[in-house]
Amino acid sequence: MKLILLGAPGAGKGTVAKLLTTIDGSVQISTGDILRGAVQTGSELGKEAEAYMKRGDLVPDSLIMGIMEKRLQESDCQKGFLLDGFPRTIPQAEALKELLAKLDITLDMAVNIDVPKDVILDRLCTRRTCENTECQAIYNVKSSPTKQEGICDKCGSAVIQRDDETEEAISHRLQTYNDKTAPLIGFYEKEGLLKTVSGTSSDTVVQELKAPLGF
Ligand code: ADP
Ligand code: ZN
Repeated sequence: MKLILLGAPGAGKGTVAKLLTTIDGSVQISTGDILRGAVQTGSELGKEAEAYMKRGDLVPDSLIMGIMEKRLQESDCQKGFLLDGFPRTIPQAEALKELLAKLDITLDMAVNIDVPKDVILDRLCTRRTCENTECQAIYNVKSSPTKQEGICDKCGSAVIQRDDETEEAISHRLQTYNDKTAPLIGFYEKEGLLKTVSGTSSDTVVQELKAPLGF
């Protein structure tokens, strides 16, 4: 499957993407995970992206398009991919449309995971992420805690609150989402690719998508 996952920060794009990869071996491509990995390893890309990310601002479109142009041509994408956190702006969506045409790739749909704002806020404040860049497993202190406090179930690394998950950065990210990313819903509706699903439970989102995707 070749999908775009749209939704506010905390809507569950990453969780839904991981569940979908188990259906047909499509790969999850998370620009947030790629960028956090680059910041940790201290690469050029990481150095450029770090300050934007800390503030909860978007990284410039040109950096993101450079990452995605390479990533979409790697061989594991041929089976399919789930774009998680990209595109995030209208210019990114337009550049992606051109890139896909050039690579002769057709999208199945753009899924808008719709979650009420109070649920989003609660989820983001209680979210914890594994600090191991190879893992980046996501937990929630209330709804899906680690078995041992502060230790990742999957890899044993420390589980932390992200720098951009302070209250101030969270409200800035939500504002950025409303201003820059929410307009993509209209963009993909016009393209005839939009499907909106209620995202209160990630399992239900996946169940709802199976039939339209032919699984
Ligand atoms: P979220 O939980 O906010 O969806 P992500 O892990 O997707 O978080 O992204 C974290 C940060 O990485 C963003 O706040 C932004 O600074 C940067 N980022 C990720 N994807 C993009 C993108 N497509 N365009 C610009 N910046 C991005
Ligand atoms: Zn881990």
